[in-house]
Amino acid sequence: MSSATTSVTATTTSLSTGVQYGFYFDQGRCFSCRTCSIVCRDWHNIPAGPVKLLRVFRWEKGTFPNPDLQVLATMCYHCANPVCIPAANGAMMKEPKYGAVLIDPAQANSPSLRDAFDACPYGAISFDSDSSTANAYKCNMCIDRLEQGLMPVCVMSCPSRALDFGPIADLQSKYGTTLAQLEDMPDPSITHPSAVFKPAPQKIQLVPYDVPTALSLLAARGSLPPVMQDTSNVTNTSGVATNTLIMKAANVAQAMATTKDDMG
Ligand code: SF4
Ligand code: SF4
Ligand code: SF4
Repeated sequence: MSSATTSVTATTTSLSTGVQYGFYFDQGRCFSCRTCSIVCRDWHNIPAGPVKLLRVFRWEKGTFPNPDLQVLATMCYHCANPVCIPAANGAMMKEPKYGAVLIDPAQANSPSLRDAFDACPYGAISFDSDSSTANAYKCNMCIDRLEQGLMPVCVMSCPSRALDFGPIADLQSKYGTTLAQLEDMPDPSITHPSAVFKPAPQKIQLVPYDVPTALSLLAARGSLPPVMQDTSNVTNTSGVATNTLIMKAANVAQAMATTKDDMG
């Protein structure tokens, strides 16, 4: 296996079987370092490019003086109602041991996997090109590691422990939440993702700002022209910032653009 092996196999665990496993994501702990996505790529020997089993999104909300950077590290959520499977027409299945939703490797270039992508609200299936017979890939829950009593490599790699993995009921009990989506994520009521989320805490403004005065001071550069002519340049960033979470890319170009910091 990959060079990631030595750094991520230190912890083994006794895994129950026959229950639905899933992921926990603590948005307040994630600082979008992308260690998880890089290690996932390394472990699964996926070259740089559009195939991403785990994506880290960042999108902005609010404007000066209350900007708020949202982050989401997302994989397949191995849903309780995996709407991708009937759409995949036999090219995907849910295995019974951990509840992982998997692509049949022999049918990875089936055009039906485009229908599976369309059905999935999370864009969890990725393709290596825009061809109708492109190979499809997705998170497989690191089932090879589970079979060795190891945790998924993304979870083990996270330096801030923003990720966890286990039976979904255990995660809900451990973290005291059954929240199945973060703000801006798709409605979970149909697919029932095997995931538990903890949203980032509300930002607190410690120093009150007089916004017009603060901006006029920031704009001044002595004898140089001011940084901005109009404060709306700063307080209205529509069209400038990435202010939308786009989980379902229309094509490879958009998939790359929306995850452009993910090392290829
Ligand atoms: S490794 Fe952890 S902190 Fe870094 S992007 Fe992934 S989830 Fe976030
Ligand atoms: S996240 Fe998408 S691909 Fe994964 S099981 Fe759910 S519907 Fe299927
Ligand atoms: S569980 Fe494994 S395959 Fe899925 S995102 Fe994490 S590292 Fe990648």
